[in-house]
Amino acid sequence: MKDRRDGTAPAHAAPDWHARTPEAALARLSARREGLSAREAAERLARHGPNRLEGARRRGPWARLLAQFHNVLLYVMLGAAAVTAFLGHWVDTGVLLVAVLINAFIGFVQEGKAETALEAIRAMLSPRAVVLRDGLRQDIDAAELVPGDVVLLASGDRVPADLRLIQVKGLRCDESTLTGESLPAAKDTGAVAADAALGDRRGMAYAGTLVGYGQASGLVVATGRDTEIGRIDQLLAGVATGATPLLRQIDRFGRALALAILALALITFAIGVWLRGHPAADMFMMIVALVASAIPEGLPAILTITLALGVQRMARRQAIVRHLPAVEALGSVTVICSDKTGTLTRNEMTVQRVVCAGLDVRVSGAGYAPEGEFRVGERAIDADHHPALALALRAGVLCNDARMAGEAGHWTVVGDPTEGALLVLGHKAGLLHGHTQAAWPRADAIPFESQHRFMATAHHDDEGRPWIFVKGAPEKLLEISAREWGPEGERAIDVDTWRRMATDMAARGLRLLGLACKRAAPAGTGLAFEDVAAGYTLLALVGIADPPREEAVRAVADCHAAGIRVKMITGDHGETARAIGAQLAIGTGKPAITGAEIELMDDEALQRVALDVDVFARASPEHKLRLVNALQRHGQVVAMTGDGVNDAPALKRADVGVAMGRKGTEAAKEAADVVLADDNFATIAAAVREGRAVYDNIRKFILFMLPTNGGEALVVIAAILFGLTLPMTPAQVLWINMVTSSTLGLALAFEPGEGDLMRRPPRAPGEPLLSRFFVWRVLMVSVLMMAAALGLFLWELERGTALETARTMAVSTIVVTEMFYLLNSRFVLAPALGRAGLSGNPVVAWALGACLLLQMAFVYLPALQAVFGTTALGAREWVAVGSAGLGVFVVAELEKAAARALIRQGAPG
Ligand code: ADP
Ligand code: MG
Repeated sequence: MKDRRDGTAPAHAAPDWHARTPEAALARLSARREGLSAREAAERLARHGPNRLEGARRRGPWARLLAQFHNVLLYVMLGAAAVTAFLGHWVDTGVLLVAVLINAFIGFVQEGKAETALEAIRAMLSPRAVVLRDGLRQDIDAAELVPGDVVLLASGDRVPADLRLIQVKGLRCDESTLTGESLPAAKDTGAVAADAALGDRRGMAYAGTLVGYGQASGLVVATGRDTEIGRIDQLLAGVATGATPLLRQIDRFGRALALAILALALITFAIGVWLRGHPAADMFMMIVALVASAIPEGLPAILTITLALGVQRMARRQAIVRHLPAVEALGSVTVICSDKTGTLTRNEMTVQRVVCAGLDVRVSGAGYAPEGEFRVGERAIDADHHPALALALRAGVLCNDARMAGEAGHWTVVGDPTEGALLVLGHKAGLLHGHTQAAWPRADAIPFESQHRFMATAHHDDEGRPWIFVKGAPEKLLEISAREWGPEGERAIDVDTWRRMATDMAARGLRLLGLACKRAAPAGTGLAFEDVAAGYTLLALVGIADPPREEAVRAVADCHAAGIRVKMITGDHGETARAIGAQLAIGTGKPAITGAEIELMDDEALQRVALDVDVFARASPEHKLRLVNALQRHGQVVAMTGDGVNDAPALKRADVGVAMGRKGTEAAKEAADVVLADDNFATIAAAVREGRAVYDNIRKFILFMLPTNGGEALVVIAAILFGLTLPMTPAQVLWINMVTSSTLGLALAFEPGEGDLMRRPPRAPGEPLLSRFFVWRVLMVSVLMMAAALGLFLWELERGTALETARTMAVSTIVVTEMFYLLNSRFVLAPALGRAGLSGNPVVAWALGACLLLQMAFVYLPALQAVFGTTALGAREWVAVGSAGLGVFVVAELEKAAARALIRQGAPG
């Protein structure tokens, strides 16, 4: 542990520099306003280390390549290669090694594309800084900054370390990388409460944030990993990512299979040597053949390819997958937690109602087009005849940082859509924003932030009199307003009426905004929070429509049909959230809870309600993380959306973290498994469908592939048990496993999703890859394959056919049987020759053709004949081989028909 006697807090304690005055901070760090001396700085640098986030957690390419070999199946194959080399069977050794290398290389390439998650966060630390040392301004490498240094900031700088500001001139910092808030935060030197949220710590400037405006000097209080951004970095590293269910299953399955195969091999070896008296060296070769035949070598590669194809299909649907396993995790999702504004809704806001001076005004028009009328009941009104309404509209245009762009027919808004809606509202009454803002020039402003939920601006009217306007959440405005503007001018406020109107509007799904004014100038030099504490006159309540996206409504219905719960998380009012939820069929008839209520619950209490409640209002990122944990403790597989840096831990923790591609921060995107290019909820549902299709295809592939291995293994075991000649050499076995099985099996990766994919319940996270029915199917087909290949082989030997030819026929029988069985495997239960049976996946035909060509080469090509010891076959041999394959096909289809009949009678599948 490093010596921290100079008072910097260690990384794990929450530092409270924002709660100290600048003087106290200087004293605590034994620092001075004119900066440290060069000697002091050097000492502290030695003690604290450089101001840098280490990138050491990333594995190098060699480590990554090596990690690919850490796989039980590959271990067994390498072992087999060693044994064959020991016995001098170099062809087998070579084939085995090539197989191992191909497998490892594919894994390596795939993984290389992933894992850039933390890079950009590290890149955010600025490389240079202006610092006072020995009383002089110096430009130094930011890595050399130490606690106690005094740093000078100017607009455009990236803040190089966490700073306690000691002198400020109009400083504004863009802290969106830390808080997710896109509007710049105003800074001063004041201390705030120790428990203030990061975005409220006005006296601090944090590393990695951007100075948007103004100048300042600040005392360095934390560097490198001790900074907030560094702590996030650690936070991200500390959250367990967890392997996806399928990878865990394949891993368990592979391990169990390898153990079973080894045990089987040892037993067979023992029987062969001691009971049958075979020479040990011969038995070794038999064992190698057995091991090679039983292990599904193509499995890892096809698994990767199937997942990669899923990634491609999802990208076409605007879902960009950052981690390959997420494709499959998507398929098992049981709960989707989604943001509301912009994801479930269009984020194209339109003011529909204004309540003002006793009038309940409806505003017509849709979107951002500034065309519409003001009506009270059936009567159209002119805003100019209603002074209170006119002032309210003016307030909405002035207390505003957005801008309208475009022209007739194609209007857009630059900036916050909520503010854009107010500009459009003013425009409808003839208040053009450029004009209005020039007539009443702005003196100062407090921008909107999610934490305080209001925005305020100070102005002078056309006669030079001062005004302050505030807009924000109605709760806030009712707190600071003692008066209201009635039809006959100002009067005492009637809080109950306003509250009733607010609830009424929110219940209709409108987003609420209040507008208030005060005829006064800021008390101090600029507009401060003290100026927005009391003495206001409430002007109006505005109801803004942000309708659900039509495709989101459909997607939510799809998710429900697919047995997936959809939960909505928003910063909006509880009633608004409930109403919008109802339009989307989220949480209908169930209570909504708010962030404040979550705050009061411990983890157990939250866990109790987490499953039942679908709407979470006035919620913030910490609540998301707690919610994910609560749901996961119920055994749910959770997808969670987010866009701010503070969402990153929740995204990491979720089984599928989903970040917004457009409005999301870099940090959110990097923590996510999936990024939505269109910020649209419907895209998540589409991705879930693809994920399910991928999982289905993987299961079909396993169902296709294992019987081949089973059949081969049974052939070899039978040969050993009955003291027969091996019907297939180890190299021939590997030919089947690596070349023909993989070629054929690949076609299943292209299988389109079956029609009822989104009408099935999600698969249980613990469900085994091989159900009892699957095990039966694998055993049955294995025996069929064995019977066909071994029967034909023995029959041929009986007839006096040469061993080489009989072996070639045995191998060809397995391959042809596989080709037929591929058709069986495209549908687990549906008939192979049904309506979708022959069309639907052209890749199947290509795979069959390719496999046939490869097998012809295997049989007729002299080079391959030399390597594999095969011989040419004649027409009679092919007819025998073909009939064996057809026989297996017919029996497999009969079994499906029987299974369908059983399921219709209600027997479990
Ligand atoms: P969300 O993004 O989940 O919809 P926000 O934090 O953006 O939630 O908004 C919360 C509340 O703050 C809104 O219901 C509204 O009353 C108020 N609000 C939102 N945007 C602004 C703004 N630009 N100026 C003033 N108040 C706002
Ligand atoms: Mg918002």
